[in-house]
Amino acid sequence: MQQFAVLQLTGCAGCEVSLLNAEEWLEQYELVYMPLVISANSIPDVDILLVSGGVRTDEDLVRLRRAAPKAKKVVAVGTCAISGGVANLGSRDEVHDLFLAEEGRRHLPRLLPECRSIAEVVPIQQTLPGCPPTPELFVRLLFPPKDLHMAKTVCQECDRKKQKTMRPRHLEGLLRGTVLPEICLINQGYLCIGTSTRGGCNAPCTRAGQPCVGCRGPSEAFIHKGPESWLNTIEKVFSKMTDVPSNEIKAALRSPQLSLFLFQLSHDPSTGGHPGQEVEVL
Ligand code: SF4
Ligand code: SF4
Ligand code: SF4
Repeated sequence: MQQFAVLQLTGCAGCEVSLLNAEEWLEQYELVYMPLVISANSIPDVDILLVSGGVRTDEDLVRLRRAAPKAKKVVAVGTCAISGGVANLGSRDEVHDLFLAEEGRRHLPRLLPECRSIAEVVPIQQTLPGCPPTPELFVRLLFPPKDLHMAKTVCQECDRKKQKTMRPRHLEGLLRGTVLPEICLINQGYLCIGTSTRGGCNAPCTRAGQPCVGCRGPSEAFIHKGPESWLNTIEKVFSKMTDVPSNEIKAALRSPQLSLFLFQLSHDPSTGGHPGQEVEVL
């Protein structure tokens, strides 16, 4: 039986919960380390090490450096591990001030000057994007299909249809609060960026009437081009499909609502890999 471990760095535990919602691996994998559910002090040698969360503190750095050499394969799981996500919120001034203040620290780990992706610290072989990756994606990771056919974008997995005649003038979908079934959310004034976001999640958000915020990161076409190219393309989609003023689109794309995913780590926004390192993105 193959063994795997889950190392949780600075994040929210959502990735772990999603993994636990996938039951398929229980019969064929032995989970030997995962502090959320297993009492074990250290990570033994394993076939696969899943790392969630970003390298935000000195403790994260030490734990990751110790754990990675014990695994045949290291996978960065989730936006935090790949490129920042929630862990990157620690870069905000008020969080820095809180953690850097000696008074009342109560043995909190020290923040590193900036959040780092897993791949900046140790070599990785694969990433599993998403915030969190869906349980189905974890199954695909642990049981790689022989022929992997994955939709290129979230749009291709979303059943909603784009309408030529329905052109919103403002991004007021969220204010209105109602969602028409079957019709593309862009046509309804929502800031949905599924057109340029990596597919594979089966569009759970847009199917439920919530716009895609791009948690799977840029689609293959933009993954090595950087965030500006991704943003420009999304802006073009909105100018083609809507009458929303371009400054409104630009401001919305740079809003806190999307910044966790669209901007991620400014110095390493796409795959989170070492330059030149071949990393498979699932
Ligand atoms: S990627 Fe999302 S779900 Fe996973 S740890 Fe980070 S914030 Fe939580
Ligand atoms: S833009 Fe969003 S709502 Fe419209 S088809 Fe694409 S994913 Fe679905
Ligand atoms: S639809 Fe978008 S936000 Fe939702 S899981 Fe997929 S990529 Fe993430």
